[in-house]
Amino acid sequence: PETAESFAFEAEVSKMLDIVVNSLYQNKDVFLRELISNASDALDKIRFLSLTEPDYLKDEEKLHVQIEYDSEQNTLTIRDTGIGMTHDELVSNLGTVARSGTTKFMQALKAGSSDGESSGDISQIGQFGVGFYSAFLVSDRIQVASKHLDSDTQYVWSSTNGSSEFQIYEDPRGKTLPRGTEITLFLKEDCIEYADEYKISQLAKHYSEFVTHPIYLKTKTTMEIEVEDDEDDDKNDDAYDDKDTSAKEEEEKKDEDDLEVKEDDISEVDEEVEKPKKMKEVTTFDWAVMNGNPALWTRSKEDITDEEYQSFYEVLTKGEGKAETWTHFNAEGNINFRSILYIPKNVPQGFQSGMTEKQATGLSLYVRKVLISDEFELLPRYLYFMKGVVDSDDLPLNVNRETLQESKIIQVIKKKVVRKALEMLRNFAKESDLEAAPSEDNDDDVDSEEKATSKTNKYNEWYDQFNAQLKMGAIDDEPNRGKIMKLLRFTSTASGGETTSLERYVENMKDKLGGNQKEIFYVAGDGLAAVEKSQFLEPFLEKGVEVLYFVDPVDEYMATTVGSFDGKKLKNIATDNIKLDDHDDDKDLATRREKFYKEKFKPLTTWLKKLYGPSIMRVAISKRQISAPAIVSSAEYGHSANMERIMRAQAY
Ligand code: ADP
Ligand code: MG
Repeated sequence: PETAESFAFEAEVSKMLDIVVNSLYQNKDVFLRELISNASDALDKIRFLSLTEPDYLKDEEKLHVQIEYDSEQNTLTIRDTGIGMTHDELVSNLGTVARSGTTKFMQALKAGSSDGESSGDISQIGQFGVGFYSAFLVSDRIQVASKHLDSDTQYVWSSTNGSSEFQIYEDPRGKTLPRGTEITLFLKEDCIEYADEYKISQLAKHYSEFVTHPIYLKTKTTMEIEVEDDEDDDKNDDAYDDKDTSAKEEEEKKDEDDLEVKEDDISEVDEEVEKPKKMKEVTTFDWAVMNGNPALWTRSKEDITDEEYQSFYEVLTKGEGKAETWTHFNAEGNINFRSILYIPKNVPQGFQSGMTEKQATGLSLYVRKVLISDEFELLPRYLYFMKGVVDSDDLPLNVNRETLQESKIIQVIKKKVVRKALEMLRNFAKESDLEAAPSEDNDDDVDSEEKATSKTNKYNEWYDQFNAQLKMGAIDDEPNRGKIMKLLRFTSTASGGETTSLERYVENMKDKLGGNQKEIFYVAGDGLAAVEKSQFLEPFLEKGVEVLYFVDPVDEYMATTVGSFDGKKLKNIATDNIKLDDHDDDKDLATRREKFYKEKFKPLTTWLKKLYGPSIMRVAISKRQISAPAIVSSAEYGHSANMERIMRAQAY
């Protein structure tokens, strides 16, 4: 139209569109997920607002999504009764305002492509906040009509694939939407397969399975009905008055063919029937709901398959890989809620590429199945990798998010959720240990080759990626520290290349040093090779006392912060106050021996102290050197050499 205003896409958006449109990426289906998810977001917004202001729904009570296709025009339409967009929102949301995710998405595409060109995984687009543009994967032109809750005018946003601009104009059709947004895709020639009922219903079912608003697809049914032969035409029309107009047209077109077919039928009709029946083919349209029982968490665990849990995870994370495991529980007590919590198989992509902390630590919070927020802060920072939903009937529906965040009920829920999350990790670790344990079956019926292949410990593989988070948790989350520390794994002088846990360490130390071992010993350094060579290990190895290898820079820091595990001090063997007395020796003899050596070597120790001056604290006679004549150790409460090294490295 003449009144159309033109706008240029923001530069980064324009670049990204170029990449998306010209990509060789095959999985174009994702566009439907993105458009359904946007519609669902818009519905969530109006529903949330209407909780405090029911009047907002006056233009349209029903909150739903409708999908329609036209296989003659090759168009696909997605319509919602959500909050809608104003003129200015159409301009900014769909093109002119730069989104931080745009550049990051392009980087991710580059990084993910084998040839450094632009054929990376476009399906992640939603995670970067630019999902709408995926519609250009399948469209020559996109037209978005929208009527915002607060606006009296319906505006259209329109853009042609490959162009660097878009138009905005008042909808020449007038106000066709009570409220919400209608997106019409004019499909590319090689994408007309999307204007097909079967195809779209498959995709819509898949992508809307867990959307909590009904998603309808307009379906076509063609059937034959009997009509009285001598009824006049007017009457016939009346009978189908409430059908779609196109149904009538279609029906009229078919009329003549039908008559011919009927000639044959008549001969078979019983002669006693006076008036032969006439058949007509009628096309009717219907809205078929695509998502049956979307609130997965309200169903009972026994009825949910692993695939369903995984696809719900896919929805929660906007298509981010697979879940490693999950817990689905019903918390009952003063405060009741249902929840599903997931841990991912791999470190979430979005997080690596700058997801905000709020998004990262947020779970989807529902109150009586109404989504309050999909990034509601319910988890501490170290558990950022978890995703899930919490739904409670005990929360008030009509308060704002901020008030809710502060509420006592939320504090209780938070505590419980963290406990459940840690419990899930503990079970995961236990089960993995059991699965990976060498089987004790008798050898007879066990395939020897199969036995030889060592079973991988799933938890350990997961832990390799997420251990830094758990250590951060041990440092930060004091109330849960004990639980978190049980999840940590280290190699040690006794673990034979495998990893061990602090619990197992404590179990093993019981009979060491004649039952006198009181502390958990560790050696810290820059990598396994370095710590294994440590001179400090000698007396421990000789006495068979296990020493944990702390080779991650954060390990020693964590050890000094947490101090102990299960009442046993964590002790760096490179410090000076280490006791390795296995039994109550002849105390007297030991003291006399010590005194004797102290005296004997006095000239040497005095000279050494003078030589090194203020750079050392003291020179002492050691009881734990075996092959090395001397060793430099740290003071028990000072920085160890390893900590000094790490701090130097951090000081750039
Ligand atoms: P995201 O959904 O992550 O914000 P998108 O690129 O999918 O990113 O959408 C961009 C923005 O356009 C949305 O944040 C929203 O403001 C607006 N938008 C898109 N689709 C709709 C819709 N159906 N109804 C209302 N607003 C919409
Ligand atoms: Mg989106």
